Amino acid sequence: MQLISLSEHSTPLTEEQADQLNRLVQSLSPQQVTWVSGFLAGINWAGQGVPQAQTAQAPQTGGQPRLTILYGSQTGNGETIARQIYDKAIARGFSASVKDMGDYKKNQLKNEQNLLLVVSTHGEGDPPDNAEELHAFLLSKKAPELKNLRYSVLALGDTSYENFCQTGQDFDKGLEALGAQRVYARGDCDVDYEETAEAWIEGALEGFAEFLQAPQGAVAGVAVQQAAAPGAKIASLYTKKNPFPAAVLENLVLNGRGSAKETRHVELSLEGSGLVFEPGDSLGVMPSNSPEFVAELIDTLKLYGNETVATFEGEMSLTNALSHAYEIAILTRPFLVRYAARSQSEKLLKLLDDGNKKALTAYIHGRDIIDLALQFPIESISADEFTGMLRKLPPRLYSIASSQQANPDEAHLTIAAVRYEAHGRPRKGVASSHCAERLAEGDTIPVYVDSNKNFKLPADGQAPVIMVGPGTGVAPFRAFIEERETLGAGGKNWLFFGDQHFTTDFLYQIDWQRWLKDKVLTRMDVAFSRDTDQKVYVQHRMLERSRDIYAWLQEGAYFYVCGDADRMAHDVHAALIDIVAREGGGLSARMAADYVKGLQRDKRYQRDVY
Ligand code: NDP
Repeated sequence: MQLISLSEHSTPLTEEQADQLNRLVQSLSPQQVTWVSGFLAGINWAGQGVPQAQTAQAPQTGGQPRLTILYGSQTGNGETIARQIYDKAIARGFSASVKDMGDYKKNQLKNEQNLLLVVSTHGEGDPPDNAEELHAFLLSKKAPELKNLRYSVLALGDTSYENFCQTGQDFDKGLEALGAQRVYARGDCDVDYEETAEAWIEGALEGFAEFLQAPQGAVAGVAVQQAAAPGAKIASLYTKKNPFPAAVLENLVLNGRGSAKETRHVELSLEGSGLVFEPGDSLGVMPSNSPEFVAELIDTLKLYGNETVATFEGEMSLTNALSHAYEIAILTRPFLVRYAARSQSEKLLKLLDDGNKKALTAYIHGRDIIDLALQFPIESISADEFTGMLRKLPPRLYSIASSQQANPDEAHLTIAAVRYEAHGRPRKGVASSHCAERLAEGDTIPVYVDSNKNFKLPADGQAPVIMVGPGTGVAPFRAFIEERETLGAGGKNWLFFGDQHFTTDFLYQIDWQRWLKDKVLTRMDVAFSRDTDQKVYVQHRMLERSRDIYAWLQEGAYFYVCGDADRMAHDVHAALIDIVAREGGGLSARMAADYVKGLQRDKRYQRDVY
């Protein structure tokens, strides 16, 4: 059975709320479940909920201190947390509003008094798309004095990147430099963000409560009413904390014989899960580590594997813990700090000095925990001591490559098997090698839906769509086209795809050809980079078609990019600005960049890059 969840017009259930509902529903008999389901479906919610849109606003109750909760988020985690803060703020008696940085007027900042800011960091320290402008403004000379502002920042990031939580730090330091008063210390969250975020929310609200003497105690009914907002959709019992064991229906290699790549098409059954997703959403996959790497690590540590260790999921053998519970493939700074302290290796401790950031990044790059343990062995480390240093194995997100409208009980994924050699040892991507090597038909893998409201088809089915998706970046566009075909949306669709070779790497070629024939796909341009002497990439094809791209944009087209963040996304972005400058009647580079920023602001330029 499924329960109330979010819609575009309602506040999403927090994971905690979903978990509570899970427990409640699991305690019901099948008859009770059917009854509750019917009851919920039959209720007229009209007038019961707090209207939710980009800006959620709590009912004003006289003279309450007002908190602004501002989020910058690429995939939606920041927004989810912002809504959790909102729920908790309301329950504590604050008046609050939630705002998307992408819709926020920069000049409004000087009028704010109490600000809770949640922002993620991407790649090598970049802000999410919807935070770019505010981030640049705050760090620019144009930023105003903010002496009347009290604030606290929650930063989301990944400790495996050198510039961990950089954007959050920029906001935190930037606000301080403008004279704002930090009410509560910044929270820096790793990929497994829930606990740190929860602690920060409590601490920050406590900080504001002391300061503002907010009335204590819940405002009765508000949080409950939000869950019952009009238009509420039905959601699943299965969440990140309680993933669904999805059975594998198919697991095929998409590349032809002789390809340098192994890109898999994995079809998973979601039957009975109640999981709901839209094109543009991702599936969170809980992988396990490669058995040979687990064995090698245990051997390197001179342990046995059958030692019992206490983990966050209870006691288990060391082998089990290193297979399913902890990250062993990636070196993170916090792990290195703990390991260095225990090893007392001078060389390692020196590498962690603040002045050695570049050397540390170079060391971490391409190395894993086995390399570290081989180079800096710790004599007689216990199994518990070692696992106590590790971070939880995070799920991996894959853009869903199918439409639920077209395949109601399935989710398809497009997964490139990552394999390479570094520092004399073979390496593998954790989830991609799990899917490529240990996931046969009938096996199951735990999954949940990670929705991404920043990568969505236009609500208007007539709006033209341009999609740029080289390599595995094409995945969500297969879902887009399936969806538009199934719904009979009449808007034009144009796809730019690229990969190494036409004969072996034309992913989903048959699907695209059918959609072209059926006129669901209006145009397709391909760039096979290794079929010619000179590399040809998707942005080269875009530049060749600049006049038509600009004409489509002028007609109101939405522009989407998915795939590699390091190089491709930057190059495609630059090409888009070039196209606008070239075709926009003599626009300067600056004006063309503003045009593209405008597209971003209007949510007509959306990216899902990794
Ligand atoms: P790639 O992005 O590696 O390659 C696709 C095409 O893009 C190739 O023709 C490549 O050319 C080309 N390309 C290279 N540089 C540029 C550029 N600057 N601008 C435009 N195009 C460029 O394909 P995959 O999707 O297969 O791999 C993407 C990477 O993402 C892999 O390294 C993978 O490990 C990683 N990844 C994959 C995930 C998944 O499977 N869903 C998830 C997370 C990460 P050429 O190679 O000839 O230069």
